[in-house]
Amino acid sequence: MDHRVDVAVVGGGLAGLSAGLRLARGGRRVAVFEKSSDLGGRARTQVRDGFRLNLGPHAVYLGGAGRKALTELGIRLAGGEPVGPGSLAYRDGDLSLLPANLSTLLRTTLLSAGAKWELARFLARLPLLSLDELAGVSVKAWLGDTFARQENRDLLAAILRIATYANDPERQSAGAALAQLRVAQRAGVRYLDGGWQTIVAALSTAALAEGVVLHSSAPVAAVDGQHRVEGVRLADGSFCRADAVVLATDPGSVAALVGDRAASLARFSREAVPVRVASLELGLRRLTRPSHLVALGIDRPFYFSVHSAVARLAPEGLALAHVAQYLGAATPADAGATRAALEAFADRVQPGWKDEAVLQRFLPDLRVSHHVVTASGGGMAGRPSPAVSEMAGLYVAGDWVGAEGLLADAALASARAAAKAILEAAPVASVA
Ligand SMILES: Cc1cc2nc3c(=O)[nH]c(=O)nc-3n(C[C@H](O)[C@H](O)[C@H](O)COP(=O)(O)OP(=O)(O)OC[C@H]3O[C@@H](n4cnc5c(N)ncnc54)[C@H](O)[C@@H]3O)c2cc1C
Repeated sequence: MDHRVDVAVVGGGLAGLSAGLRLARGGRRVAVFEKSSDLGGRARTQVRDGFRLNLGPHAVYLGGAGRKALTELGIRLAGGEPVGPGSLAYRDGDLSLLPANLSTLLRTTLLSAGAKWELARFLARLPLLSLDELAGVSVKAWLGDTFARQENRDLLAAILRIATYANDPERQSAGAALAQLRVAQRAGVRYLDGGWQTIVAALSTAALAEGVVLHSSAPVAAVDGQHRVEGVRLADGSFCRADAVVLATDPGSVAALVGDRAASLARFSREAVPVRVASLELGLRRLTRPSHLVALGIDRPFYFSVHSAVARLAPEGLALAHVAQYLGAATPADAGATRAALEAFADRVQPGWKDEAVLQRFLPDLRVSHHVVTASGGGMAGRPSPAVSEMAGLYVAGDWVGAEGLLADAALASARAAAKAILEAAPVASVA
């Protein structure tokens, strides 16, 4: 059935839902179209045997743009924060203390005395670094210029991996990666009670209350219009006329929906460098080493964290651990080998975990972000703006868009910017 709205939003993830909610609060008639049967996109949480499984390890950066955007929308984020000191470093198959503050830096056996001194001097300088000057410098080049000690290059590379999820030091912008490290250091991260689905549910409920029409199992096949959008055409043949369209999807879907009418986005889609991880989730009857809650690979790009230690994600008395490998841009050649490596890593952190496992889920190739912020693109300046200049009324939002933040922070901040631009472009709503 054909219908008409002020704004059609394509994609029912965090970006699409939050853009829809903002636009409805601004007085616009809004419809959101999501191709999947469930809303939420990569922020979905599945419940299995009482365990709440996000799509791989998910943490809210409390000092980031996403939290700010959600607070503005009245959405609270209940959960708990993992404690930094006590985290472990994994190198050469051994575990040691991860230097997280002065006390752990002094005590750890991870670094030689000379490396500790070099790191302490760097940490004192870190808040003063001018990150704008590092936008066009790669992480690899920056590590080489900053540290004489290979131990510290490896440690900082691992810390930037955990802060950004990217394992792409030759391409990643040092300025953008260090900005994210500052965000992580400023306020830490929070794992959410019930998983990220709680954000999706809160956004959906608020959007429905504002009159947004949420369509699931509704793939959009095309955006109509030449130099100005006319609406969206659904895969079932129906048409939704709209004055503005927000594409809150991945760059490949955007290119398929608008093609050469937005040549800059078609080009961006071809050149985008994704951020991927392999994820192994473990539901455990008990932890064999209760104090081993967080471990970070230094010479291997590995991550281990017991999210249920601080957030309600597992049945009473049981534990949910996330194990992951940061993959970089390429799809892993051998998923079986990746899983075996993650299982062996987990065995080092929680020896004998297999005897305690009541649930395992392995996802070999997840797309954490559609684009790593690159040095060659000049840092954040290399990401597309929410307003698409080639086509009036067309906007994009997602973790690959806009000048602010990474990951979900970017998705929520670009959705905010897109909604603001639409509301400012036509301050008086066309609503009758
Ligand atoms: C393993 C993993 C770990 C992560 N960890 C973190 C973390 O710790 N912290 C953090 O901040 N972020 C994290 N993220 C990233 C975060 O999940 C995403 O940045 C955020 O959820 C993206 O939201 P989005 O709405 O932009 O995109 P998506 O969630 O991908 O939503 C896009 C939606 O568009 C729909 N769609 C696409 N094409 C069409 C079409 N033609 N018609 C209709 N619908 C369409 C899709 O089905 C999808 O639902 C992680 C992601 C992964 C995968």
